[in-house]
Amino acid sequence: MPEPTARKYAFDSVFARQLEEGFPWLKFAAELEPGFRGAHFERFLPYVRVALFVGLTLMVVFFLLGMVSGRSTNDWFANLIRFGLLAPVFVATIVVSYLPAQRAAFRSMVLMTALASGLGYAVLNLTAPEQFLQAGFSGLLVIVAFIYFALGLFMQTAMIIVLLITVFYGIGAVLVGVPGEFIAYNLTLLLVANFACGMGSYALEHALRAGYLERQLLSELVERDGLTGLYNRRAFDKYLAQAWDVAKRQQKSLAFMLADLDHFKAYNDQHGHQAGDECLRRVASRLAMAARRPLDFAGRFGGEEFILVFFDVGLEAAARLAEDVRRHVAELNIPHRGSGVSSYLTISIGVSVVSPGETARSPEGVLQLSDQAMYQAKKMGRNRVQVEDASQAHVQTGVFQPG
Ligand code: GH3
Ligand code: MG
Ligand code: MG
Repeated sequence: MPEPTARKYAFDSVFARQLEEGFPWLKFAAELEPGFRGAHFERFLPYVRVALFVGLTLMVVFFLLGMVSGRSTNDWFANLIRFGLLAPVFVATIVVSYLPAQRAAFRSMVLMTALASGLGYAVLNLTAPEQFLQAGFSGLLVIVAFIYFALGLFMQTAMIIVLLITVFYGIGAVLVGVPGEFIAYNLTLLLVANFACGMGSYALEHALRAGYLERQLLSELVERDGLTGLYNRRAFDKYLAQAWDVAKRQQKSLAFMLADLDHFKAYNDQHGHQAGDECLRRVASRLAMAARRPLDFAGRFGGEEFILVFFDVGLEAAARLAEDVRRHVAELNIPHRGSGVSSYLTISIGVSVVSPGETARSPEGVLQLSDQAMYQAKKMGRNRVQVEDASQAHVQTGVFQPG
């Protein structure tokens, strides 16, 4: 196992790892990529919608301009492309963007929109009267920028679409007999536009990806204890509320263990605070190993006190688990000369088990029981497990919930 201190963060974070490894090909590890893509599309959706509205408006504006100049009215083919192909695709994409259940469809529709815009415009350009061939081509360059920056597409996707449009234009231009030097010039322009937009889009997506990882890492960090990497008190409060609800609904029990290092003040006095910190890290990593299932919890309660919660674990199993934890910590064989209990560092554990569906006790009340059990363990000589049966205990534990 790597030394926890060798890592930049005291806990293992997939986001930190990805940041460290980098992502020059704009791709995260398989476990992170779908989360990023989903968040990205959700975040950009309003902007994409605006871009589509603007696109639609421009189609109408160009149609009207054409009418004024007396051209579009009888250019039935251009109007067919505009209002028979492009406008319906744009409108459909906008409509689907308002249906939260159709996110996958929306993503495909955006691809369609990008492709249809490029191909549709290329067709318009290729079928325009010869005097418009050159002038009309610049619109295609604007569409390249639209595909890259207005539709929330990923850089690689946009690049593939633009390449397809370029190939399509090239073949089309040869077929309709556009003069050779026009074709060469326009293809070069398309490739240069693709390259320039590609560079900008790469930088943009790289920054977006880094920002995503940093935000995720930050939200992990606020729930972690900086020294040990275990969850902190804030995370515990959140976990407790959720676990209590789930246990109540599913009629399951929760086992709470409060663990406190024995004579730790003496340890610090003897070995120094630094050694004390290292000690806390090693104990913490032992505790984390015990609570590994998805609904279990391992946290640092502050100082040299830890909390473990096990989902769906009864009284006897909890006592056995706690005894294992106590033994594992003792087996770390951390010399502790000033202990008085043992020549090695030991912990005392207070255990209580509760079924939230069957008790009137509040979560705080159950914690108090574990706390009392822990102090009982201290009083009885330390380096031991003390179990408090929540259903039997008649100790007044403060807050009782009605019903
Ligand atoms: P007991 O067996 O009754 O628990 O005795 P104790 O000495 O462990 O208990 P006490 O609460 O009196 O002392 C806790 C000590 O834990 C005090 C402090 O020096 C130490 N401690 C708390 N937080 C840290 C920490 O972050 N790092 C280090 N090195 N020591 C800490
Ligand atoms: Mg202590
Ligand atoms: Mg203490």
